[in-house]
Amino acid sequence: MGQAFIRTLRHFWPDFNPWLDQLPDTRFREMIVYDKRFLIWWGLLLFSFKLGSRRALDYQLRDIELPVLDNINQLAKTQQESLPVHKTLDHFLGHVGSAALADLRNQCLRHLIRTKVLDRFRLEGQFVIAIDGTGYLSFKERHCEHCLEHSNGSCVYYLHPVLEAKIVHPSGLALSIGTEFIENPLPQPGTDPSSLVDYQAVKQDCELKAFLRLAAQLKKAFPQTPFCLAADSLLACGPVLTLCEQHNWSYVLTFKPGRTPALWADFQGLLKLSPENRRVQTLADQTRQSFRWANDLAYTDSEGRAHTLHALLCEETDARQTQTYSWMTNTRLSMQNVVILASDGGRVRFQIENQGFNIQKNSGLNLEHAYSTGIDTMKSFYYLLQIAHLFLQMLERGSLLRQLARQYDSTPLRLFGSLKNIAQRLLECFRYFPLPPEVFDSTEQFQIRLADSS
Ligand SMILES: [Zn+2]
Repeated sequence: MGQAFIRTLRHFWPDFNPWLDQLPDTRFREMIVYDKRFLIWWGLLLFSFKLGSRRALDYQLRDIELPVLDNINQLAKTQQESLPVHKTLDHFLGHVGSAALADLRNQCLRHLIRTKVLDRFRLEGQFVIAIDGTGYLSFKERHCEHCLEHSNGSCVYYLHPVLEAKIVHPSGLALSIGTEFIENPLPQPGTDPSSLVDYQAVKQDCELKAFLRLAAQLKKAFPQTPFCLAADSLLACGPVLTLCEQHNWSYVLTFKPGRTPALWADFQGLLKLSPENRRVQTLADQTRQSFRWANDLAYTDSEGRAHTLHALLCEETDARQTQTYSWMTNTRLSMQNVVILASDGGRVRFQIENQGFNIQKNSGLNLEHAYSTGIDTMKSFYYLLQIAHLFLQMLERGSLLRQLARQYDSTPLRLFGSLKNIAQRLLECFRYFPLPPEVFDSTEQFQIRLADSS
């Protein structure tokens, strides 16, 4: 398992260590000087092993009798003579700054895109990017001047939500590619502190504003990459459509009658006029899907900008009920593409919740845990978590682990029982086994293929 992990990292990111050398130089002084490569790996392993808290580094990895230090030295290509304490990591990340770690995350993604590793997950040539917000940190007392406030009647909570963009695929992939923290700007001197933002009251506004910042970031970091944005109806509005048109991005957005009522009425009218735009199919489990669509809807947004878009309706009937889904998109619809646009574009958006936020909160990565007290250092830990989750997803769906499981006539998940157990086994490998030098050797030849089904 430890060997499969290291080979996976070497295979997908052969230049990772040189990238770490480019991180900002840190001027802080500890009793022992640690190489930045070593400290970044130390932080990434905290999440790869799902230790759950920074303090756990000192207990779970500290034992002079064990080969932990040797294994990490080999991974980072360093010669440290002792393990750091968890506070060293915190100080170090405080000096590196979260922006450099956001860049490191982007670099990891960019490399996968350039080397075509993710090509099999494209939808009609584009990467589907799900956009959604989630609760990240929540405190019972004001934690910093950027907290958003929320009162549930009896208690006030101080929140740090986050808006994420993740590459998603129906097979369960959810790779973080963009992050925007939703927070209060610094209050102007003399501002009444009670005028702070109630998050729930202005949620819509906050997420839309954060989206505009996130989109600018994405375009800057990935200027040429073709994206198809998948988001809920909150983002089905003029500013978002305009931005997608400017950036040459596709979109598949949830279309709700209440969000743009006149446009919805036009859509219903056009559906009646085009009965030939219909496709019906029955799935293996006898669920019946009926697709209807209309092309070339004209929409003028609240700022007077004209858009042309297309809309798709899917009615799904199983033994118990009928459910209706609808989306607006700037991809022209036809008999040939409605099914794939609905399944791999519109509905795959839920992966960001299930495979993204849910796994990061509940399978040991502990997303909602404050790994530091400083606001910028917390963000640094957030990016390390995203990178480690990227590593783990490539390990979990890579052929090395699947070959290992096949020796026992099983799949990785069945063999180890849960994602958390996979991380636990990985920890044991690093703790108890001196990993052989050839595993770290860049001349060793091997192949890894990625599964595109779960
Ligand atoms: Zn705060």
